[in-house]
Amino acid sequence: MLIKSQSAKTKSTRAKSPSTFESLNPATGEVVGVFPLTTKDEVNDAVARAKVAADRWANLSFRARNIVLRDWASILTRDMKEAAELIHRETGKPLSDATLEVALAIEHIGWAGKFAPKVLSRQSRPAGLLMFNMAAQVQRVPFGVVGVIGPWNYPIFTPVGSIAYALAAGNTVVFKPSEYTPAIGSFLEESFKRIAPFRDVLTVVTGDSTTGSALTESAVDKISFTGSTRTAKKVAAACAERMTPVVLECGGKDAVIIDKDADVKKAAEMTLWHAMSNAGQSCIGAERVYVHHQVADQFKSEIVARAKELTPGFGDGAKYGPATMPSQLKVIKAHIDDAASKGATFLLGGRDAIKGGYVEPVILADVPEDSLAVTDETFGPTLVINTVSDMDEAVDLANATSYGLGAAVWSKRNGKRIATLLKCGMVSINSAFSFAAIGAVPFGGVKDSGYGRIHGAEGLLEFTYPRTVVKRRFRIPLEFTTFERSARADRILIRLVRLMHKRRIR
Ligand code: NDP
Repeated sequence: MLIKSQSAKTKSTRAKSPSTFESLNPATGEVVGVFPLTTKDEVNDAVARAKVAADRWANLSFRARNIVLRDWASILTRDMKEAAELIHRETGKPLSDATLEVALAIEHIGWAGKFAPKVLSRQSRPAGLLMFNMAAQVQRVPFGVVGVIGPWNYPIFTPVGSIAYALAAGNTVVFKPSEYTPAIGSFLEESFKRIAPFRDVLTVVTGDSTTGSALTESAVDKISFTGSTRTAKKVAAACAERMTPVVLECGGKDAVIIDKDADVKKAAEMTLWHAMSNAGQSCIGAERVYVHHQVADQFKSEIVARAKELTPGFGDGAKYGPATMPSQLKVIKAHIDDAASKGATFLLGGRDAIKGGYVEPVILADVPEDSLAVTDETFGPTLVINTVSDMDEAVDLANATSYGLGAAVWSKRNGKRIATLLKCGMVSINSAFSFAAIGAVPFGGVKDSGYGRIHGAEGLLEFTYPRTVVKRRFRIPLEFTTFERSARADRILIRLVRLMHKRRIR
């Protein structure tokens, strides 16, 4: 068994001095680093400096910014091993998962830089018959300084989904990493500094929730937040005070739907990874399965057989690590206990699944739909499998949640039809997690899972606002927007509108 004891790291006990805090390895308790608790004044200074840099950065051409981002991707590629080691130590996740995370982040940096000109270049729009003498254009303008507040579960991949797109769109960024992953946040800043054309394009402010809160109250021009729905509401409320626009990428309760014609073996293999990789600490992790009754027994026995082989731990061979944030263990325990007390069946694991800082795989069946394990985000290596009589029932149950982030559908013939019925931001068919790795598609959710998008063209647009510019190309005898407008102009206007819009209504 690879299980080691969990450190006593908690949010309240890690202050090293009034002005610093320690980041600990959640598996060993080793101190990964000591970091400043950035104060409100210091956050405001960082934002003020980023504002000065923002003008210069926005004035660079797309090509010039792309070269910087390309170089950053190249530096990170060269230092991939170092970055992965740091993620491994700071979050406890296996080195190979950490490497995958860095690789995907690099892919997004490359995509954002390369496609920014295509998505954000000014566009001409038809001015219409009434304004035919006007040239109409829409320009995309960067906000200025984007504050990025990141989580600890994917400490490079997730914030880079905002940072790279905000930078490519011409904003500078002040990034507040989670207090559980300040080392990897600082690593990102250091790597960017090596290729930055000037200072303050990407600044990292380490600290706790007070630092995050200071960022939301600062003079940033937009906030991109990833974390819990509870904190997202506080962030949105703080931003509302200053009318600061926000993107909120919150948690989920993602459902996996398995139809009777699914490749059940593949579905079991991938759903296990979907649910338990990164110790289940994924906003788009599978938390609920709705499986057709005709294949339910086969699916359950396949997934349980595979899950028995999973070993949590920190060393070589561990499939996933400890809970990065120890307080999450209480939530996981509460969900398991609640399901058990409501009559759920343990297909694997039990109430004693939590061992130190690790959670052994737990698979529950026939879990009442009002259980915490079905209604609330668990964020642990647990999975609920409920059997349904048909896909209509599966869709209804999948949608009966306050969340709406991602979902997966397994079916040879009905995947697309089922996907269109799901009330969420992203669906993968016959695969798991795959949308997160594709630079071209947006990432984000609806309902309690947040609003706004990162990644893809939508992610680039998110970090700009549209500026409409219309210009008179030539003079015409008919001027509508003047007090000098003639009766003849009025008659022509009415005739033109009738011509264009008057229809016989059936
Ligand atoms: P939080 O939502 O509290 O934290 C996310 C980020 O917000 C962190 O950087 C945090 O800083 C910062 N923050 C906290 N309070 C404020 C505030 N008032 N203003 C601005 N920023 C703030 O998540 P937790 O880390 O506490 O995790 C709690 C739960 O959230 C998890 O159990 C999981 O369910 C969910 N979660 C979802 C994630 C996702 O990917 N959608 C990622 C992480 C968590 P600091 O860490 O320094 O407090």
